[in-house]
Amino acid sequence: MNNRLLLTTAVYPFPSLPQNEAATDVMGQRFTRGNDLFTMVSHTHPCGLHLLAQNLEIPSVVLEYPRWNQFCREVARGYEVIGISAYPFHLDTVFRMCRHIRMVSPSTRILVGSYAAQTLMALGGLEKFGDMIDEIVDGEGVGHLRRHFGEDPSRPVLQRFFPRNGAGLRYLGKQPKGNTVLLFSGLGCPGGCDFCSSSAMYKRKRIELLSPQSVVEHVSHYLERLPGGVTQFYLIDEDYFRFPDYLLEMRRHIADHPELIEQADFVVFGSVDYIARFASTYGWEAIAEAGVGVIFIGVESRNAGENGYGKRDRADAREVFAKLHNLGIRTIGAWIAGFPFQSRETLQEDLDYYISCYPTYQQLSIFSAFPGTPLHEARSNESKEPDCQFADYHFWNPSSTHPDYSNSELLELTEHGYELGYQRWGACLLRNLDVHLNGVEWCEQSESPLLSNHAILLHRKNAAKLYTQLRTMEKYAPNQEVLKRIRSLTSRYHSIFGAATLLQETASWGSLLLATLYTWKCKISPWSPKTEGFRRFIYTPGAAAPDGSPYVIDRLASLDTTYSLKRLIPKVFGRLAALVVSVYLTKQKI
Ligand code: SF4
Repeated sequence: MNNRLLLTTAVYPFPSLPQNEAATDVMGQRFTRGNDLFTMVSHTHPCGLHLLAQNLEIPSVVLEYPRWNQFCREVARGYEVIGISAYPFHLDTVFRMCRHIRMVSPSTRILVGSYAAQTLMALGGLEKFGDMIDEIVDGEGVGHLRRHFGEDPSRPVLQRFFPRNGAGLRYLGKQPKGNTVLLFSGLGCPGGCDFCSSSAMYKRKRIELLSPQSVVEHVSHYLERLPGGVTQFYLIDEDYFRFPDYLLEMRRHIADHPELIEQADFVVFGSVDYIARFASTYGWEAIAEAGVGVIFIGVESRNAGENGYGKRDRADAREVFAKLHNLGIRTIGAWIAGFPFQSRETLQEDLDYYISCYPTYQQLSIFSAFPGTPLHEARSNESKEPDCQFADYHFWNPSSTHPDYSNSELLELTEHGYELGYQRWGACLLRNLDVHLNGVEWCEQSESPLLSNHAILLHRKNAAKLYTQLRTMEKYAPNQEVLKRIRSLTSRYHSIFGAATLLQETASWGSLLLATLYTWKCKISPWSPKTEGFRRFIYTPGAAAPDGSPYVIDRLASLDTTYSLKRLIPKVFGRLAALVVSVYLTKQKI
């Protein structure tokens, strides 16, 4: 066979989540959920596949979100190896894909990786699924494929040409521009929380993919290559603060290139106790000096510490969140409903505690046992794990087994939590602005040149951008308390920066107009979950210029007429409808 390697996601569309949101829209289905008009929309590229393709010497093709026909067309080209990267809830589709490959191209070797592989291993491995799958890649994939193709597995891992992910407000458009680069600096975590798939998948170890120096070099490379085109880097690594030396070394390299943190900051992952421990040894400012702008923090539950979760038994989450916010670091707070130790007496109080942490962004999910985790194993041993469909293996698993709560009650509770956050603190966007203003004030007073000369510029830039949405937030505030917060933040902004510029005022009025049109449009044609377009990437390593992209997008094959029409028609339809409604309303007023 001429074609050596095809790497693909599961065939699209993916099963929808219980809240009827797209699995690839992390801002809409989780982080800004429940924010009414200010809920955001995002798009995600499957960067794990690009990581594999960009670290092999052989040519390959990457398919992002193929539809069934597109997948079949690709399989018909004949491949030596086809690798499918998927999540557990894709597995029904993955099996269908595997059967099709077996039928059309029996000599093709089929590999399945990512968290779907972990599920397959836990549920019987090749003994059970070997008729459809040849290799289950339950672990780090670059080394696996390099060994498979006879390449040197010890070569450094590079991630220099990832497509950008993006997020934006729904009323500003359903296809936000890409401005975020995802980098895999490390995989796995030694924490061993019983529900955690990542920790179990990498056997409670951290596998480093990028050294701190390499992270900073990658950041520098993207910012030079795409000037003004990247504002944030998502650094995938489960808990940075367990490895203080790593973070401190990153800070040292940032100090050599301070201009980087004027342009972009990092989203990282951390846990309450380890953040507090890091800060008590090296100071809170050291976190911001390492370029960290946002931290995803698993609060899990107020009582997680006393119930065996070692990352939560020393520091108070509220204090850690407040300290971070003070110096301009935003938080994505994660909370879980349905731990066995939460009861009808304690769960609401637990949720209130979480909301009182004032998370800038929120993730509320249900305590779920993914195959391969210690929790799933324990439940299976006790025969407590109910029969579960593959499509149920996600963060809101409808077959959890809480003694007091039914699953629909738990789901309602998570929805209530999102609503509570919005009603109490206002939109995530507003909280974001609040923390950036803290950042400006902190940096102004700071004796650290990294913060006072450099990080401050990014806080200012972001605050100025967010300011343009205050008028819309004021108009559509959910209640009087939030309205007061919006007005007080507006005054605070003016006292720091003075009057808004003409450009800001124009953008602010423009946003209000678009938001109003959007609300009218939603009355006629409500929001529908975002769909991802199909892309075919052709990788030819060696053919590209030394610092050129190793892939081209096959525009012709990627042209999905139905998808393009769907993108076009609702927009035109929505605008027309909004126009009709506005004319009608104006006439009525007259
Ligand atoms: S600390 Fe976080 S990443 Fe580590 S095992 Fe626990 S849940 Fe997983």
